[in-house]
Amino acid sequence: MKTKTLFQSKLINIKTISFGLMFFINFFAFSQSPNVVLILADDLGYNDVGFNGSTEIPTPNIDRIANEGVKFTNGYVSYAVCGPSRAGLITGRFQDRFGFGLNPLYAPKDPNMGLPLSEETLASALQKANYKSVAIGKWHLGAHELLHPLKRGFDDFYGFLTGGHMYFPEQLTIQDQSGVKSQYDAYREKILRNYERVEETEYLTDGLSREAVNYIKKYKDEPFFIYLAYNAPHTPLQATQKYLDRFPNIEDKKRKTYAAMVSAVDDGVGAVLNTLEELNLDENTIVIFLSDNGGPEKHNASDNGVLRGEKGSLFEGGVHVPFAMKWPKAIPQGMIYEKPVISLDLFATVVAQSNIQTKNKLDGVNLIPYLQGEKELDDRPFFWKQFNKNSYGLRLGDYKYLQLNNQKENMLFNLEEDISETSNLYETKSATFLALKEEFEKLNKEMKDPIFMGLSQGKEYNELHPDRFE
Ligand code: CA
Repeated sequence: MKTKTLFQSKLINIKTISFGLMFFINFFAFSQSPNVVLILADDLGYNDVGFNGSTEIPTPNIDRIANEGVKFTNGYVSYAVCGPSRAGLITGRFQDRFGFGLNPLYAPKDPNMGLPLSEETLASALQKANYKSVAIGKWHLGAHELLHPLKRGFDDFYGFLTGGHMYFPEQLTIQDQSGVKSQYDAYREKILRNYERVEETEYLTDGLSREAVNYIKKYKDEPFFIYLAYNAPHTPLQATQKYLDRFPNIEDKKRKTYAAMVSAVDDGVGAVLNTLEELNLDENTIVIFLSDNGGPEKHNASDNGVLRGEKGSLFEGGVHVPFAMKWPKAIPQGMIYEKPVISLDLFATVVAQSNIQTKNKLDGVNLIPYLQGEKELDDRPFFWKQFNKNSYGLRLGDYKYLQLNNQKENMLFNLEEDISETSNLYETKSATFLALKEEFEKLNKEMKDPIFMGLSQGKEYNELHPDRFE
Protein backbone atom coordinates (compact mmCIF):
# COMPACT_ATOMS: atom_id res chain seq x y z
CA MET A 1 0.00 0.00 0.00
CA LYS A 2 2.73 2.34 1.05
CA THR A 3 4.81 1.37 -1.98
CA LYS A 4 1.89 1.99 -4.27
CA THR A 5 1.29 5.41 -2.83
CA LEU A 6 4.92 6.24 -3.19
CA PHE A 7 4.83 4.97 -6.75
CA GLN A 8 1.67 6.98 -7.49
CA SER A 9 3.04 10.11 -5.97
CA LYS A 10 6.24 9.65 -7.95
CA LEU A 11 4.18 9.26 -11.09
CA ILE A 12 2.30 12.43 -10.30
CA ASN A 13 5.54 14.19 -9.62
CA ILE A 14 7.03 13.01 -12.87
CA LYS A 15 3.88 14.10 -14.70
CA THR A 16 3.89 17.45 -12.97
CA ILE A 17 7.57 17.95 -13.63
CA SER A 18 7.35 16.91 -17.26
CA PHE A 19 4.30 19.09 -17.81
CA GLY A 20 6.07 21.95 -16.10
CA LEU A 21 9.15 21.29 -18.20
CA MET A 22 7.13 21.20 -21.42
CA PHE A 23 5.39 24.38 -20.43
CA PHE A 24 8.70 25.96 -19.61
CA ILE A 25 10.27 24.81 -22.87
CA ASN A 26 7.29 26.07 -24.87
CA PHE A 27 7.18 29.30 -22.97
CA PHE A 28 10.91 29.73 -23.33
CA ALA A 29 10.83 28.88 -27.04
CA PHE A 30 8.02 31.33 -27.75
CA SER A 31 9.34 34.00 -25.46
CA GLN A 32 12.53 33.85 -27.51
CA SER A 33 10.60 34.31 -30.75
CA PRO A 34 11.84 37.56 -32.23
CA ASN A 35 9.48 40.43 -32.82
CA VAL A 36 9.19 41.38 -36.46
CA VAL A 37 8.72 44.84 -37.91
CA LEU A 38 8.42 44.63 -41.68
CA ILE A 39 8.51 48.10 -43.21
CA LEU A 40 7.46 48.32 -46.83
CA ALA A 41 7.86 51.48 -48.90
CA ASP A 42 5.78 51.88 -52.05
CA ASP A 43 7.41 52.74 -55.38
CA LEU A 44 10.69 53.87 -53.81
CA GLY A 45 13.64 54.21 -56.19
CA TYR A 46 16.70 52.03 -55.65
CA ASN A 47 18.91 55.08 -55.38
CA ASP A 48 16.69 57.06 -53.03
CA VAL A 49 18.00 55.87 -49.67
CA GLY A 50 21.23 56.90 -48.01
CA PHE A 51 22.44 53.31 -47.71
CA ASN A 52 22.37 52.98 -51.50
CA GLY A 53 24.27 56.24 -51.94
CA SER A 54 21.63 58.97 -52.05
CA THR A 55 22.97 62.30 -50.88
CA GLU A 56 20.04 64.31 -52.21
CA ILE A 57 17.53 62.61 -49.88
CA PRO A 58 19.10 61.87 -46.50
CA THR A 59 17.50 58.85 -44.80
CA PRO A 60 19.48 58.53 -41.56
CA ASN A 61 16.86 56.37 -39.86
CA ILE A 62 16.31 53.93 -42.69
CA ASP A 63 20.10 53.75 -42.95
CA ARG A 64 20.29 52.66 -39.31
CA ILE A 65 18.63 49.39 -40.34
CA ALA A 66 21.42 48.73 -42.84
CA ASN A 67 24.19 50.01 -40.56
CA GLU A 68 23.07 48.02 -37.53
CA GLY A 69 22.42 44.93 -39.64
CA VAL A 70 22.78 43.94 -43.25
CA LYS A 71 22.39 45.76 -46.53
CA PHE A 72 21.41 43.51 -49.41
CA THR A 73 22.92 44.84 -52.61
CA ASN A 74 20.99 42.34 -54.73
CA GLY A 75 17.58 42.38 -53.06
CA TYR A 76 14.61 41.53 -55.25
CA VAL A 77 10.84 41.42 -55.15
CA SER A 78 8.70 38.88 -56.98
CA TYR A 79 6.95 41.39 -59.23
CA ALA A 80 7.37 44.88 -60.66
CA VAL A 81 4.09 46.37 -59.37
CA CYS A 82 2.39 46.64 -56.00
CA GLY A 83 -0.30 43.96 -55.65
CA PRO A 84 1.47 40.81 -56.88
CA SER A 85 4.68 41.82 -55.11
CA ARG A 86 2.80 42.11 -51.81
CA ALA A 87 1.06 38.79 -52.41
CA GLY A 88 4.48 37.16 -52.78
CA LEU A 89 5.89 38.92 -49.73
CA ILE A 90 3.02 38.05 -47.38
CA THR A 91 2.84 34.37 -48.44
CA GLY A 92 6.53 33.64 -49.04
CA ARG A 93 5.60 32.13 -52.40
CA PHE A 94 5.78 33.14 -56.03
CA GLN A 95 2.33 34.68 -56.40
CA ASP A 96 1.78 32.98 -59.76
CA ARG A 97 1.47 29.71 -57.85
CA PHE A 98 -1.97 30.93 -56.80
CA GLY A 99 -2.92 33.12 -59.75
CA PHE A 100 -2.08 36.57 -58.33
CA GLY A 101 -0.31 37.69 -61.50
CA LEU A 102 -2.04 41.06 -61.90
CA ASN A 103 -2.64 44.18 -59.85
CA PRO A 104 -6.13 43.74 -58.38
CA LEU A 105 -8.98 46.15 -59.02
CA TYR A 106 -10.84 47.73 -56.13
CA ALA A 107 -13.92 45.49 -56.02
CA PRO A 108 -15.29 45.15 -52.47
CA LYS A 109 -18.06 42.77 -53.54
CA ASP A 110 -15.77 40.31 -55.26
CA PRO A 111 -14.30 37.60 -52.98
CA ASN A 112 -12.06 36.39 -55.81
CA MET A 113 -10.38 39.77 -56.32
CA GLY A 114 -7.39 39.37 -54.03
CA LEU A 115 -5.36 36.84 -52.08
CA PRO A 116 -7.06 33.41 -52.36
CA LEU A 117 -8.09 31.74 -49.11
CA SER A 118 -5.89 28.75 -50.01
CA GLU A 119 -2.94 30.93 -49.02
CA GLU A 120 -1.50 31.33 -45.56
CA THR A 121 -0.22 34.81 -44.73
CA LEU A 122 2.80 35.39 -42.54
CA ALA A 123 0.42 36.63 -39.85
CA SER A 124 -1.59 33.39 -39.99
CA ALA A 125 1.56 31.32 -39.73
CA LEU A 126 2.78 33.35 -36.76
CA GLN A 127 -0.45 32.68 -34.87
CA LYS A 128 0.94 29.17 -34.36
CA ALA A 129 3.65 30.68 -32.17
CA ASN A 130 1.28 33.04 -30.33
CA TYR A 131 2.29 36.21 -32.13
CA LYS A 132 0.11 39.31 -32.21
CA SER A 133 0.05 40.72 -35.72
CA VAL A 134 -0.86 44.20 -36.90
CA ALA A 135 -1.28 45.42 -40.49
CA ILE A 136 -0.81 49.16 -40.94
CA GLY A 137 -1.24 51.14 -44.15
CA LYS A 138 -1.82 49.76 -47.62
CA TRP A 139 -3.38 46.32 -47.91
CA HIS A 140 -4.07 45.79 -51.62
CA LEU A 141 -4.71 42.06 -51.20
CA GLY A 142 -8.48 42.29 -51.63
CA ALA A 143 -11.25 44.62 -50.47
CA HIS A 144 -13.95 41.96 -49.96
CA GLU A 145 -14.82 41.28 -46.31
CA LEU A 146 -13.46 37.72 -46.55
CA LEU A 147 -10.08 39.11 -47.63
CA HIS A 148 -9.84 41.77 -44.91
CA PRO A 149 -6.59 41.72 -42.88
CA LEU A 150 -8.48 40.57 -39.76
CA LYS A 151 -9.60 37.51 -41.74
CA ARG A 152 -6.04 36.82 -42.84
CA GLY A 153 -4.29 36.34 -39.51
CA PHE A 154 -3.95 39.92 -38.30
CA ASP A 155 -5.23 40.96 -34.88
CA ASP A 156 -5.40 44.64 -35.74
CA PHE A 157 -5.59 46.75 -38.86
CA TYR A 158 -5.18 50.46 -39.40
CA GLY A 159 -5.20 51.58 -43.00
CA PHE A 160 -6.99 51.18 -46.31
CA LEU A 161 -7.77 48.29 -48.61
CA THR A 162 -6.93 49.61 -52.06
CA GLY A 163 -3.68 50.35 -53.93
CA GLY A 164 -3.11 53.97 -52.93
CA HIS A 165 -4.47 56.84 -50.91
CA MET A 166 -4.69 60.57 -50.44
CA TYR A 167 -2.34 61.84 -47.76
CA PHE A 168 -4.05 64.99 -46.47
CA PRO A 169 -6.80 64.33 -43.91
CA GLU A 170 -9.12 66.95 -45.41
CA GLN A 171 -9.21 64.89 -48.63
CA LEU A 172 -10.54 61.79 -46.90
CA THR A 173 -14.13 62.70 -47.59
CA ILE A 174 -15.80 59.42 -48.54
CA GLN A 175 -17.36 57.76 -45.53
CA ASP A 176 -17.16 54.15 -46.70
CA GLN A 177 -17.32 51.74 -49.65
CA SER A 178 -20.90 52.73 -50.49
CA GLY A 179 -19.66 56.19 -51.51
CA VAL A 180 -17.06 54.84 -53.93
CA LYS A 181 -18.09 55.09 -57.60
CA SER A 182 -14.76 54.54 -59.35
CA GLN A 183 -11.39 52.85 -58.85
CA TYR A 184 -9.74 56.06 -57.65
CA ASP A 185 -12.61 57.27 -55.45
CA ALA A 186 -11.30 54.68 -53.03
CA TYR A 187 -8.24 56.90 -52.50
CA ARG A 188 -10.55 59.25 -50.60
CA GLU A 189 -12.20 56.77 -48.29
CA LYS A 190 -11.86 57.35 -44.59
CA ILE A 191 -9.25 55.21 -42.89
CA LEU A 192 -10.26 51.92 -41.31
CA ARG A 193 -9.39 50.81 -37.80
CA ASN A 194 -10.29 47.15 -38.00
CA TYR A 195 -13.82 47.39 -39.48
CA GLU A 196 -14.64 50.92 -38.30
CA ARG A 197 -14.15 54.19 -40.18
CA VAL A 198 -12.11 56.72 -38.23
CA GLU A 199 -11.09 60.35 -38.64
CA GLU A 200 -7.37 60.53 -39.35
CA THR A 201 -6.17 63.97 -38.36
CA GLU A 202 -2.54 63.83 -39.44
CA TYR A 203 -0.68 63.67 -42.75
CA LEU A 204 -1.21 59.99 -43.56
CA THR A 205 2.44 58.92 -43.40
CA ASP A 206 2.73 60.47 -39.94
CA GLY A 207 -0.52 58.79 -38.93
CA LEU A 208 0.72 55.36 -39.98
CA SER A 209 3.99 55.89 -38.08
CA ARG A 210 2.04 56.94 -34.97
CA GLU A 211 -0.02 53.77 -35.17
CA ALA A 212 3.07 51.57 -35.54
CA VAL A 213 4.57 53.10 -32.40
CA ASN A 214 1.32 52.67 -30.46
CA TYR A 215 0.84 49.05 -31.47
CA ILE A 216 4.43 48.20 -30.55
CA LYS A 217 3.70 49.65 -27.09
CA LYS A 218 0.42 47.75 -26.91
CA TYR A 219 2.01 44.38 -27.70
CA LYS A 220 5.41 44.90 -26.08
CA ASP A 221 4.98 41.88 -23.80
CA GLU A 222 4.19 39.39 -26.58
CA PRO A 223 5.99 38.40 -29.70
CA PHE A 224 4.56 40.77 -32.30
CA PHE A 225 4.59 41.21 -36.04
CA ILE A 226 4.04 44.73 -37.31
CA TYR A 227 3.48 44.94 -41.06
CA LEU A 228 4.02 48.64 -41.67
CA ALA A 229 3.10 49.13 -45.32
CA TYR A 230 3.48 52.80 -46.10
CA ASN A 231 1.83 53.97 -49.30
CA ALA A 232 4.55 56.63 -49.62
CA PRO A 233 6.11 57.60 -51.93
CA HIS A 234 3.41 56.25 -54.28
CA THR A 235 1.38 58.92 -56.08
CA PRO A 236 -0.42 61.25 -55.52
CA LEU A 237 2.64 63.34 -54.72
CA GLN A 238 1.63 65.16 -51.56
CA ALA A 239 3.77 66.41 -48.71
CA THR A 240 3.44 68.83 -45.84
CA GLN A 241 5.50 72.00 -45.52
CA LYS A 242 7.48 70.50 -42.64
CA TYR A 243 9.00 67.93 -45.00
CA LEU A 244 9.16 70.15 -48.09
CA ASP A 245 11.24 72.65 -46.12
CA ARG A 246 13.99 70.06 -45.77
CA PHE A 247 14.74 70.29 -49.48
CA PRO A 248 15.36 73.96 -50.32
CA ASN A 249 17.92 72.95 -52.94
CA ILE A 250 15.69 70.73 -55.05
CA GLU A 251 14.14 72.94 -57.71
CA ASP A 252 12.00 70.40 -59.53
CA LYS A 253 8.65 70.49 -57.76
CA LYS A 254 7.85 66.81 -58.33
CA ARG A 255 11.25 65.64 -57.14
CA LYS A 256 11.05 67.96 -54.14
CA THR A 257 7.66 66.58 -53.10
CA TYR A 258 8.86 63.03 -53.63
CA ALA A 259 11.93 63.72 -51.48
CA ALA A 260 9.71 65.19 -48.77
CA MET A 261 7.53 62.06 -48.81
CA VAL A 262 10.56 59.80 -48.43
CA SER A 263 11.78 62.00 -45.59
CA ALA A 264 8.45 61.55 -43.81
CA VAL A 265 8.83 57.78 -44.06
CA ASP A 266 12.34 58.13 -42.67
CA ASP A 267 11.01 60.03 -39.65
CA GLY A 268 8.49 57.24 -39.10
CA VAL A 269 11.19 54.59 -39.26
CA GLY A 270 13.14 56.62 -36.69
CA ALA A 271 10.13 56.73 -34.36
CA VAL A 272 9.71 52.95 -34.66
CA LEU A 273 13.40 52.24 -33.99
CA ASN A 274 13.47 54.62 -31.04
CA THR A 275 10.39 52.98 -29.55
CA LEU A 276 11.99 49.54 -29.81
CA GLU A 277 15.06 50.88 -28.03
CA GLU A 278 13.10 52.64 -25.30
CA LEU A 279 11.23 49.41 -24.58
CA ASN A 280 14.46 47.38 -24.66
CA LEU A 281 13.07 45.33 -27.51
CA ASP A 282 15.60 46.23 -30.18
CA GLU A 283 18.00 43.34 -29.48
CA ASN A 284 15.46 40.65 -30.33
CA THR A 285 13.43 42.43 -32.99
CA ILE A 286 13.94 41.78 -36.68
CA VAL A 287 13.45 45.04 -38.55
CA ILE A 288 13.24 44.85 -42.32
CA PHE A 289 13.02 47.62 -44.86
CA LEU A 290 12.32 47.25 -48.57
CA SER A 291 10.25 48.67 -51.41
CA ASP A 292 7.44 46.69 -53.04
CA ASN A 293 8.84 47.43 -56.52
CA GLY A 294 11.25 49.82 -58.21
CA GLY A 295 10.60 53.51 -58.67
CA PRO A 296 8.34 54.68 -61.51
CA GLU A 297 10.85 57.42 -62.36
CA LYS A 298 8.70 59.41 -64.78
CA HIS A 299 5.62 59.17 -62.61
CA ASN A 300 6.81 60.06 -59.11
CA ALA A 301 10.30 61.49 -59.84
CA SER A 302 12.04 58.58 -58.13
CA ASP A 303 15.57 57.53 -59.08
CA ASN A 304 16.66 53.95 -59.68
CA GLY A 305 20.27 55.01 -60.18
CA VAL A 306 22.26 52.75 -62.46
CA LEU A 307 19.44 50.25 -62.81
CA ARG A 308 17.73 50.02 -66.19
CA GLY A 309 13.98 50.43 -66.39
CA GLU A 310 11.43 51.27 -63.74
CA LYS A 311 8.27 50.06 -62.00
CA GLY A 312 6.30 47.78 -64.29
CA SER A 313 9.39 46.53 -66.13
CA LEU A 314 11.26 43.26 -65.67
CA PHE A 315 14.56 45.07 -66.06
CA GLU A 316 16.36 45.62 -62.77
CA GLY A 317 14.70 48.99 -62.20
CA GLY A 318 11.36 47.21 -61.74
CA VAL A 319 12.29 44.41 -59.37
CA HIS A 320 15.66 45.21 -57.72
CA VAL A 321 14.88 47.29 -54.65
CA PRO A 322 16.39 48.95 -51.56
CA PHE A 323 16.56 46.13 -49.02
CA ALA A 324 18.01 46.01 -45.49
CA MET A 325 17.46 44.03 -42.31
CA LYS A 326 18.66 44.16 -38.74
CA TRP A 327 18.41 41.77 -35.82
CA PRO A 328 21.16 42.63 -33.34
CA LYS A 329 20.86 39.29 -31.56
CA ALA A 330 21.70 37.29 -34.68
CA ILE A 331 22.94 39.42 -37.57
CA PRO A 332 26.39 41.04 -37.53
CA GLN A 333 26.38 44.83 -37.72
CA GLY A 334 27.31 46.69 -40.87
CA MET A 335 27.22 43.66 -43.10
CA ILE A 336 26.97 43.90 -46.88
CA TYR A 337 25.48 40.81 -48.47
CA GLU A 338 25.85 40.57 -52.23
CA LYS A 339 24.24 37.25 -53.11
CA PRO A 340 20.77 37.64 -54.59
CA VAL A 341 17.94 37.49 -52.06
CA ILE A 342 14.23 37.93 -52.61
CA SER A 343 11.32 39.27 -50.56
CA LEU A 344 9.99 35.68 -50.36
CA ASP A 345 12.94 34.81 -48.11
CA LEU A 346 11.52 36.99 -45.34
CA PHE A 347 8.59 34.65 -44.62
CA ALA A 348 10.91 31.64 -44.48
CA THR A 349 13.36 33.53 -42.27
CA VAL A 350 10.74 34.62 -39.77
CA VAL A 351 8.86 31.32 -39.38
CA ALA A 352 12.13 29.39 -39.00
CA GLN A 353 12.88 31.26 -35.76
CA SER A 354 9.88 29.64 -34.06
CA ASN A 355 10.00 26.31 -35.93
CA ILE A 356 6.58 26.94 -37.42
CA GLN A 357 5.20 24.38 -39.85
CA THR A 358 3.69 26.28 -42.77
CA LYS A 359 0.53 25.29 -44.58
CA ASN A 360 2.03 25.60 -48.06
CA LYS A 361 5.46 25.00 -49.54
CA LEU A 362 7.58 28.14 -49.41
CA ASP A 363 9.76 29.53 -52.18
CA GLY A 364 12.23 31.38 -49.96
CA VAL A 365 14.94 30.31 -47.52
CA ASN A 366 15.82 31.21 -43.95
CA LEU A 367 18.59 33.75 -44.52
CA ILE A 368 20.03 33.75 -41.00
CA PRO A 369 22.50 30.82 -41.33
CA TYR A 370 23.86 32.42 -44.50
CA LEU A 371 24.22 35.82 -42.87
CA GLN A 372 26.02 34.17 -39.97
CA GLY A 373 28.44 32.55 -42.41
CA GLU A 374 27.44 29.01 -41.48
CA LYS A 375 26.42 28.15 -45.01
CA GLU A 376 26.96 29.34 -48.54
CA LEU A 377 23.75 30.30 -50.33
CA ASP A 378 23.19 28.26 -53.51
CA ASP A 379 22.05 29.95 -56.69
CA ARG A 380 18.26 29.95 -56.84
CA PRO A 381 15.90 30.85 -59.66
CA PHE A 382 13.93 34.08 -59.22
CA PHE A 383 10.88 33.91 -61.46
CA TRP A 384 9.01 36.84 -63.00
CA LYS A 385 6.08 36.65 -65.35
CA GLN A 386 4.25 39.65 -66.69
CA PHE A 387 0.91 38.56 -68.06
CA ASN A 388 -0.30 41.81 -69.58
CA LYS A 389 2.86 42.06 -71.72
CA ASN A 390 3.48 38.34 -72.14
CA SER A 391 7.00 38.89 -70.83
CA TYR A 392 9.19 36.47 -68.92
CA GLY A 393 12.23 36.87 -66.70
CA LEU A 394 14.45 34.73 -64.51
CA ARG A 395 17.58 35.40 -62.50
CA LEU A 396 19.85 32.47 -61.65
CA GLY A 397 23.28 33.15 -60.21
CA ASP A 398 24.99 35.93 -62.13
CA TYR A 399 22.70 35.69 -65.13
CA LYS A 400 19.29 37.04 -66.02
CA TYR A 401 17.13 35.81 -68.85
CA LEU A 402 14.43 37.99 -70.37
CA GLN A 403 11.89 37.43 -73.12
CA LEU A 404 9.89 40.61 -73.41
CA ASN A 405 6.92 41.91 -75.40
CA ASN A 406 5.25 38.70 -76.45
CA GLN A 407 8.61 36.99 -76.05
CA LYS A 408 9.89 38.72 -79.17
CA GLU A 409 12.84 40.40 -77.52
CA ASN A 410 15.40 37.87 -76.26
CA MET A 411 17.97 38.99 -73.75
CA LEU A 412 20.62 37.64 -71.44
CA PHE A 413 22.64 39.75 -69.03
CA ASN A 414 25.51 38.99 -66.71
CA LEU A 415 24.40 41.07 -63.75
CA GLU A 416 27.61 40.47 -61.82
CA GLU A 417 29.47 42.39 -64.54
CA ASP A 418 26.66 44.47 -65.97
CA ILE A 419 24.04 45.51 -63.41
CA SER A 420 22.77 48.17 -65.83
CA GLU A 421 21.80 45.53 -68.40
CA THR A 422 23.56 47.24 -71.28
CA SER A 423 25.23 44.29 -72.96
CA ASN A 424 22.87 41.65 -74.36
CA LEU A 425 24.63 38.26 -74.38
CA TYR A 426 21.74 36.42 -76.00
CA GLU A 427 23.75 35.59 -79.13
CA THR A 428 27.19 35.11 -77.66
CA LYS A 429 26.05 32.96 -74.73
CA SER A 430 23.15 31.14 -76.26
CA ALA A 431 23.69 27.97 -74.20
CA THR A 432 23.29 29.96 -70.98
CA PHE A 433 20.20 31.68 -72.41
CA LEU A 434 18.65 28.31 -73.23
CA ALA A 435 19.51 26.87 -69.83
CA LEU A 436 17.78 29.75 -68.05
CA LYS A 437 14.84 29.59 -70.44
CA GLU A 438 14.49 25.90 -69.59
CA GLU A 439 14.60 26.74 -65.89
CA PHE A 440 11.89 29.33 -66.44
CA GLU A 441 9.69 26.89 -68.33
CA LYS A 442 10.12 24.24 -65.67
CA LEU A 443 8.89 26.66 -63.00
CA ASN A 444 6.23 28.05 -65.28
CA LYS A 445 4.54 24.65 -65.38
CA GLU A 446 3.89 24.99 -61.63
CA MET A 447 2.21 28.38 -62.02
CA LYS A 448 -1.37 29.51 -62.59
CA ASP A 449 -2.72 32.15 -64.92
CA PRO A 450 -4.33 35.13 -63.17
CA ILE A 451 -7.55 34.26 -61.37
CA PHE A 452 -8.90 37.83 -61.54
CA MET A 453 -8.88 40.76 -63.94
CA GLY A 454 -6.23 43.41 -63.43
CA LEU A 455 -6.08 47.17 -63.19
CA SER A 456 -5.83 47.63 -66.97
CA GLN A 457 -9.06 45.65 -67.48
CA GLY A 458 -11.28 47.96 -65.43
CA LYS A 459 -13.66 48.74 -68.26
CA GLU A 460 -14.15 45.09 -69.18
CA TYR A 461 -14.63 44.19 -65.51
CA ASN A 462 -17.29 46.88 -65.07
CA GLU A 463 -19.23 45.52 -68.03
CA LEU A 464 -19.22 42.05 -66.53
CA HIS A 465 -19.99 43.39 -63.04
CA PRO A 466 -22.39 46.32 -63.44
CA ASP A 467 -23.05 46.26 -59.70
CA ARG A 468 -19.34 46.76 -58.83
CA PHE A 469 -20.16 50.21 -57.41
CA GLU A 470 -23.82 50.59 -56.74
CA1 CA B 1 4.33 49.86 -55.48
